[in-house]
Amino acid sequence: MLRNVNVGRKSLADYYSIVSRDLMAEIRDLAGHLEGLRVCHINATSFGGGVAEILYTIAPLMNDVGLRTDWKVMFGRNEFFNVTKAMHNGLQGDPRSLTDEEKAVFDRYNVLNAGGLADQYDVIVVHDAQPAGIRRYAEGQDGAKWIWRCHIDLSTPNPDVVGFLLPYIEGYDLSVFHMASYIPDDDRVPEAVVVPPAIDPLAPKNMALSPEDAAYIVNQFGLDVERRLLLQVSRFDPWKDPLGVIDAYRTVKERFPDVQLALVGSMASDDPEGFDYFQRTLDYAGDDGDIFILSNLNNVGSVEVNAFQSHADVVIQKSTREGFGLTVTEAIWKGRPTVAGNVGGIPLQIADGETGWLVDSAEECADRCIRILEDPEAARAMARRGKQHVRHDFLSPRLLRDWLAMFCRLTGRGPTHG
Ligand code: UDP
Repeated sequence: MLRNVNVGRKSLADYYSIVSRDLMAEIRDLAGHLEGLRVCHINATSFGGGVAEILYTIAPLMNDVGLRTDWKVMFGRNEFFNVTKAMHNGLQGDPRSLTDEEKAVFDRYNVLNAGGLADQYDVIVVHDAQPAGIRRYAEGQDGAKWIWRCHIDLSTPNPDVVGFLLPYIEGYDLSVFHMASYIPDDDRVPEAVVVPPAIDPLAPKNMALSPEDAAYIVNQFGLDVERRLLLQVSRFDPWKDPLGVIDAYRTVKERFPDVQLALVGSMASDDPEGFDYFQRTLDYAGDDGDIFILSNLNNVGSVEVNAFQSHADVVIQKSTREGFGLTVTEAIWKGRPTVAGNVGGIPLQIADGETGWLVDSAEECADRCIRILEDPEAARAMARRGKQHVRHDFLSPRLLRDWLAMFCRLTGRGPTHG
């Protein structure tokens, strides 16, 4: 029932000019101890959202340094993804709990998918809650070490929902969180380590595009590339607050009547709620011809997201909850002035007033956008400082290093730090 994802090919050597030599040497050293290690990543979807984004880079890079890495996506119908979305919301604090029937659906699909784990692995990394139950039901993986990788903000969960999840997590050998504050204070959490995620500077989403090429692509979606552009790239999800972005844009428009807004959001297959929220966003935008609401359904893929991010005058990420916010990392890496919610992993990435702006409301968001548009040069200088921070802390080779260190430690091969 688990489906293999073709992870393609990437070469670590291509990153030599982007990150430090020391980091590269460390990776080579760790990888030397892990030759042939069989690793399996399991998650809910191969399309849409940050987890898939990371795995498309990290899995082939693990192969490139000598591991044998598979990535498997679990099978689920809407009935399952409706439950896991409710669970995801509950884990991020939504007061709605799960019904017994929903819990049974979660369990049933995890049993089903566990049955599909036929190959033998040394390390199995399970991402997020959807497939967390596979560890309990998998057979024939006796020698394997199991890691639960949490990508969301678990700092203030609905107690019922996290209480439902934790017994499934209890049997793992290690758990990994973006931030220390996300680790639940509960004995059932296995040994926890903190590792933030990263973006791939060489993926089509982030590779350097010339301003002309970026404008050429944006122009094809009907925007006026000579006029100012505010952008938010994110799934259509209440926590990403696209309606708040529209409010902020309306305030900015009073000051800069030529401003346009693009809301670019993919429809992830594990996010059925996305379509409803997409519709709500469309309704909220009304008949304003300067608001462009686009998604993969309009052929917006990675390169197009890159073009929008490279071209926008301000990139907004007005989240009210955010596990990490890879879209923020992506915008900063492209040197764009960024205004983002002061939540979750975003303050790790932005020093308020130094490398970007952190905001708590639509009014604040509008105010910072206006400041950026009033003095774009100063804003670009701030963004360039942010880019150095991303280069050091949030690019894929650093994440690869952290994974290899964890694998060394868990399997007892090589050095034990990490
Ligand atoms: N993304 C995309 N197309 C879209 C919307 C989002 O490719 O229309 C990507 C975005 O560029 C980022 C990821 O999906 O790489 C979202 O990750 P993030 O951590 O920001 O949020 P998540 O969706 O995981 O909550």
